[in-house]
Amino acid sequence: MTNKTALVISAHAADFVWRCGGAIALHAEKGYDVTVACLSFGERGESARLWKEGKSLDEVKAIRRGEAEAAAEKLGVTRLECFDLGDYSLVLEKEDKYRLVDLIREVQPAFMMSHSQYDPYNTDHMYMTQVALECRMIAQAWGHNPGQKVLGAPQLYLFEPHQTEQMGWKPDTFLDITPVWDKKRAAMECMNGQVHLWDYYTRVAQQRANHFKRNSGGMSGGRDCHYAEGFQSIFPRTVDEL
Ligand SMILES: [Zn+2]
Repeated sequence: MTNKTALVISAHAADFVWRCGGAIALHAEKGYDVTVACLSFGERGESARLWKEGKSLDEVKAIRRGEAEAAAEKLGVTRLECFDLGDYSLVLEKEDKYRLVDLIREVQPAFMMSHSQYDPYNTDHMYMTQVALECRMIAQAWGHNPGQKVLGAPQLYLFEPHQTEQMGWKPDTFLDITPVWDKKRAAMECMNGQVHLWDYYTRVAQQRANHFKRNSGGMSGGRDCHYAEGFQSIFPRTVDEL
């Protein structure tokens, strides 16, 4: 029997670490093969410290790739696929989209993850989600590369954006990541260009843990939780019992 799989689609090299590093580490421990697609290294838009140090574009990209690889290893990522398409702005040509479709079909994820659908601070993020939905749709089409295995209907979970309240992002799922918190923190600490975010995302996880407790029963049998991640799901669930 082959392992279950998951696919994270990240606009920039570090996004998967802050926003769903816990989900990655948790599912890796559960035996999932987790693939992370980084469409760019965030070299122009999310590497300010390196530019201030006078690094060249190639140096910035190499450093960001190294950080992403180190973080992926801490989280137990099975495969890190770097598309290297450039950021600010991230643009996918048709062939790039087909490459992502190929990856989705190859992975056959049980669930997918990407950014919030709205992000006025970072249009790469919301563009990425639009493209993720587009490529998910193409991967489901029997008429696209007939003969390949088409995609089922994996959920697309939107992970928590920065500046949460400005994004129209509303979580409907809280995941307890307490058992893998040390791995997420270690992965965050691989991101040396964004030291200011380490404690910020620790606080976010603690806040979400409170929501986990409240929604799992609160003062009447709620489950204790120290760190959590929130997600907004796009598609309905199909159930036999409520
Ligand atoms: Zn980003």
